[in-house]
Amino acid sequence: MSTTITTQKKVLGTYGPGSTHWVGDGFPVRNLFPSNGVQLEVSPFLMLDYAGPQYFKPAAQPRGVGEHPHRGFETVTIAYQGSVGHRDSAGNAGVIYPGDVQWMTAASGVLHEEMHEAEFTKNGGIFEMIQLWVNLPAADKMSKPQYQAITKEQIPTVSFPGGGHARIIAGALHEAKGAARTFTALNVWDLELKAGEQVDLPVPEGHNTAVVLRKGDVSVNETGKLSGEARIAVLGREGDTLTLKATTDSHLVLLSGEPINEPVASYGPFVMNTREEIMQAVDDFKSGRFGQL
Ligand code: MN
Repeated sequence: MSTTITTQKKVLGTYGPGSTHWVGDGFPVRNLFPSNGVQLEVSPFLMLDYAGPQYFKPAAQPRGVGEHPHRGFETVTIAYQGSVGHRDSAGNAGVIYPGDVQWMTAASGVLHEEMHEAEFTKNGGIFEMIQLWVNLPAADKMSKPQYQAITKEQIPTVSFPGGGHARIIAGALHEAKGAARTFTALNVWDLELKAGEQVDLPVPEGHNTAVVLRKGDVSVNETGKLSGEARIAVLGREGDTLTLKATTDSHLVLLSGEPINEPVASYGPFVMNTREEIMQAVDDFKSGRFGQL
């Protein structure tokens, strides 16, 4: 029998949303970073909005966010309840249904719209999703836009002995390889834990790490308490494991990644490395060089 020495990652802090606002008229979000001041600690992740859960009445016109640009990073949309229809200037269009993930690499630039899907708009219902922004290394910021439409069937699941599970959206856990291709080493795991369940999760040394609570009651390495809804625990880079213990059924997302140690210059939907590149992005957008929907 061999003994493996592991070190728990240290919990640096726990936070609630630093901002609660609407994105367009379709996404009532609680922002879990960077509005609460956590930024360097979560690189390569730039932003996380938790939308809903919120009930929408049946409507005639789809709600959402109309045409807008992105450049220099990736947007990752994880749908839990309700469906999002999208179309973009690269000619892609589709629907993100509950359980599905859209991993869009905006890179050199896309224009897109994100709206409640037609049937959901007509029938109404509970809407719940996460949108995560993932930075790109400087070398890939101006690469060709692409997107991965990942259905829930394509996402590998790791079952835990206590009855919970992890959906491996990106990265790897044990033998399960994530569904999404990524530019840098990172993990995005969608977790469900049962009341009373405890899991030890290997997370690479050197990765910035965060645990997002959608709903439930969980301790992270004993010291970090996440309770209620829309909370985040941020952990240090050192160490290679963390322990989650749930006292009620809990829904979480684990994020970890190698930090991208490059300057960040951002302005709204543009995230580049320098101010000049931001000015270029604004100019390109205003001049119509992002194409057309
Ligand atoms: Mn967008």
